[in-house]
Amino acid sequence: MEELSGGCQCGRVRYSVEVEPDTAYACHCTVCRKATGGVWIALVSVPLNRIHWQGKPDWYQSSAIGHRAFCPKCGTPIGFAFVDDLIDLDLTVGSFDRPDRFRPAQNRCVESMLPGWTNLDNLPAEHADKDERTRRNWREAQSGPPR
Ligand SMILES: [Zn+2]
Ligand SMILES: [Zn+2]
Repeated sequence: MEELSGGCQCGRVRYSVEVEPDTAYACHCTVCRKATGGVWIALVSVPLNRIHWQGKPDWYQSSAIGHRAFCPKCGTPIGFAFVDDLIDLDLTVGSFDRPDRFRPAQNRCVESMLPGWTNLDNLPAEHADKDERTRRNWREAQSGPPR
């Protein structure tokens, strides 16, 4: 069990939670896809009463059986829960400050999996700073990508 923190891009939604980092999973369902814009989404299930909100998310109903927490200002997807489940919330691994702490343990909803997007190991690899325009944009903003 590990105490980890997270939140949205703009900082309005913030949380800390005691979580088991080796129980994260990839969901390939079509609702998660639309809700996040990703081809699959990494989630980790935690008991709601273990989450301490410093800034609370808003919720919307994403299907007949599920609703989702998100930041109403910047739109970051924060989590998913079944509407009849008042016990657990599945937080987006990408909204944690240290997503590198998590290890995927399972694929869910594999009937919707997009096969071309599950193993990217053999694709050509490029760092963000290799692109001149990206480098110039960050320099002109006198900043760098968030760590
Ligand atoms: Zn936000
Ligand atoms: Zn899903």
